Amino acid sequence: MPLTPWACSNCGHWQRHFAPQGCPVCEDTRNDLPADGWDFWPEEKVAAHVAGSWRRLDRELVAFSTSPPFGLNGTGWLLLHPDGNTAFEAAPYYTPPMIEEIRRLGGIRFLAASHCHGYGALWQLQDVFEPEVLAIQKDDLRMTKAMRVTHPYDDALELRPGQTLIHVGGHYEGQAVLHDARRRVLFCGDAFKVDQDESGSPVALSTHKAFHKSIPLTPGEARRYLEAIAPLDFDTICTPFEHAPGVDREIALALLDDQIAGPPGVRHIPLDQLRGRRIAAE
Ligand SMILES: [Zn+2]
Ligand SMILES: [Zn+2]
Repeated sequence: MPLTPWACSNCGHWQRHFAPQGCPVCEDTRNDLPADGWDFWPEEKVAAHVAGSWRRLDRELVAFSTSPPFGLNGTGWLLLHPDGNTAFEAAPYYTPPMIEEIRRLGGIRFLAASHCHGYGALWQLQDVFEPEVLAIQKDDLRMTKAMRVTHPYDDALELRPGQTLIHVGGHYEGQAVLHDARRRVLFCGDAFKVDQDESGSPVALSTHKAFHKSIPLTPGEARRYLEAIAPLDFDTICTPFEHAPGVDREIALALLDDQIAGPPGVRHIPLDQLRGRRIAAE
């Protein structure tokens, strides 16, 4: 039987399969199972369901997304570079105009994602653009049924000078962040969650093992985030779902300080309460 890509209609996770019997993302404790049972969509059905769009942000960064929402409905980030672009995380699906735009912008040389909630249609970007590298941290390889990981890694992988993947674990076993030193951006996966106001401006920050179920990190997991992130310089974070300019290293470290000090819990702390706290501590 031919193996084709199927998307879980509950979370959007793709698998190459003859007939999926379950979805590893929904079966995981961080997510809920679909109340009405499994429903897997072939590529044609997803393609007919979504329209694509993109917006150019500052620092040569392009955000690709689709509507109406499908699955976890993440954003695909494209980091433009004259020697080949880097794509991090992916949109739920890439329509022909989205593919055409990426081609016009120079294609993809390096492809990676933080963890399975950010995968979207990574498989499609690999099939179309044949990047040199598809990098996923080794502890999450079991989630990559739709693509072929060319560069599994342990603690860190430097894609190019100034663009480094760093394994942080915590929220997901194999979760990694991508630090772009030149842009001063930390693509942090779900290591942080940003609350935004109606205009999309970041107002509060939290960290968690499972967002919807409000399961907190352990103190040790928060400490590991802190150790990984403290050496990095950034003034903006991008999750698979939010672009948060102004959420910088000091704010991120102050949130982790609070988490480590305890008690365990998911606390959405307003940014103005986090600002300045770390400097006082240092
Ligand atoms: Zn699912
Ligand atoms: Zn996640």
